[in-house]
Amino acid sequence: MKRRSFCGAALATVTAASLPFTRLLAAADAPIAGDVPAIGMTGKQIVLPRSDLTDLRARLRGQLLLAGDEGYDAARRVWNGSFDRKPAVIVRCTGAADVVQAVNFGRAHELLVAVRGGGHSISGQSTCDGGLMIDLAPLNGVRVDPIARRARVSGGAKLGDFDREAQAFGLATTAGTVSHTGVAGLTLGGGFGRIGRKYGLACDNLLSVDVVTADGKFVKASDEENPDLFWGLRGGGGNFGVVTSFEYQLHPVGPVLLGGVLIYPVTQAKEVMEFYDGFIAEAPDEVYVDTTLITTPDGKKVLILDTTYCGSIEAGERALKPLREFRKPLVDTIAPTPYIKLQSGLDDAFAYGRHYYVKAGYIRKLPPDLIGTMIECFMSSTLPVTPVLTAHTGGAISRVRENATAVSHRDARHSLLVAAAWADSNGDEAHLKWARSSWKLLEPFTRGFYANDNSADIPERRVLENYGSNYDRLAVLKTKYDPTNLFRLNANVKPKA
Ligand SMILES: Cc1cc2nc3c(=O)[nH]c(=O)nc-3n(C[C@H](O)[C@H](O)[C@H](O)COP(=O)(O)OP(=O)(O)OC[C@H]3O[C@@H](n4cnc5c(N)ncnc54)[C@H](O)[C@@H]3O)c2cc1C
Repeated sequence: MKRRSFCGAALATVTAASLPFTRLLAAADAPIAGDVPAIGMTGKQIVLPRSDLTDLRARLRGQLLLAGDEGYDAARRVWNGSFDRKPAVIVRCTGAADVVQAVNFGRAHELLVAVRGGGHSISGQSTCDGGLMIDLAPLNGVRVDPIARRARVSGGAKLGDFDREAQAFGLATTAGTVSHTGVAGLTLGGGFGRIGRKYGLACDNLLSVDVVTADGKFVKASDEENPDLFWGLRGGGGNFGVVTSFEYQLHPVGPVLLGGVLIYPVTQAKEVMEFYDGFIAEAPDEVYVDTTLITTPDGKKVLILDTTYCGSIEAGERALKPLREFRKPLVDTIAPTPYIKLQSGLDDAFAYGRHYYVKAGYIRKLPPDLIGTMIECFMSSTLPVTPVLTAHTGGAISRVRENATAVSHRDARHSLLVAAAWADSNGDEAHLKWARSSWKLLEPFTRGFYANDNSADIPERRVLENYGSNYDRLAVLKTKYDPTNLFRLNANVKPKA
């Protein structure tokens, strides 16, 4: 009896589950209607023959999506709502084999190619109009080896996926501060985070990567295999290929850490930030504190210090005490908190689909005139979400040699950012105007920038300068691994002629 009802339930499940599956199959099997107009990698209008698209689809395990297909609009969407772009073709990759097919197709047709990991870039370069989007979103597995303290993370995984799996074993490695950010773009650009001062950048914790290069070859890169490529992938962004899997070193972290926010009225911002600058100069690597000048949803202008202590709760209480006692904040939420909760506390503040514009540069300290300018820029805005903030770096990050990886400006102590966020394109003009005029005042205090933290309107010359003494080596690598610049939608390194 029991057995029969189990079979019945199973049958019901299979039947119900089969319905959408059948629909999917039907959509995937429907013949492609005709040739598809597209944009080539140099901006030229081209045509993708129907027969080539049909052939590509037959070679894939994942989906090939064209405009009008079910799932096309959801797949083309990225975090920054300012980029409502329409690729000619989207390949939803389920494994390295799909990535190889997509790269070969893009190269053979000289197509404009965008690579989407978590889809979270500020620059919107993981999508494009008229090109090929190689979408790794379905490729999001995470496997942790708790004994070896290592993790294998697929190229489309989000930080939240990674942290959650690793924290099940009380482990973690440096990852960014918003859990819906992609592992891939973050790690390839460097990867700052709450525990970075203790354990270095996300890319400093890489042991190896699997990557599909522009010639469609699947290669492994590590200190032992293709070490030149491994060097360039740590800070050189998406310039050298599509990474299908990252292998990281993990560390014991939490799972409960001391952390939380201190909130002050903006009238106290100057004195608190001046005190903070001295406090942070002496702080141990375990201390991580971001500062944010922001308007709360009920219209109050405040300074928020967002803290994490990567160590024991008792040591954290001692280390953060001077900061907590300097002035009485309006709010102090610092308490033992699950690391996962700290890592997702900002998620709603940076929700998917709104419009964002961000400018950022590195600073080495917070002198009083910079603090004054930050407050001036912040106070000059009457718009709802226009924070001026600093993200904390330094510590172990700055003890790695400047040319040990492709990451430049390791001596920075903070990344300084102005960020504008708004709901729809009606707000573009006012927000862009505020962010750009604020940045004009703030940029002179900066030296170098984190490309991952910036909107894409940076002059090409400045992008190249920013790679500093690592640029020549990156250009040699680019020439070797991507001589036609197939992967150009990034902080682009040009191949040598
Ligand atoms: C709200 C917010 C918070 C952030 N916080 C942090 C932070 O705390 N620390 C930090 O370091 N950064 C932070 N960033 C910046 C972040 O590192 C970048 O936005 C990063 O590009 C996100 O990666 P992604 O895979 O989601 O991006 P995507 O938009 O998918 O990709 C960005 C670029 O990365 C490359 N790329 C993506 N996937 C692959 C792949 N599998 N193989 C090869 N190339 C690939 C491509 O060139 C692509 O154009 C933050 C960004 C936002 C928007």
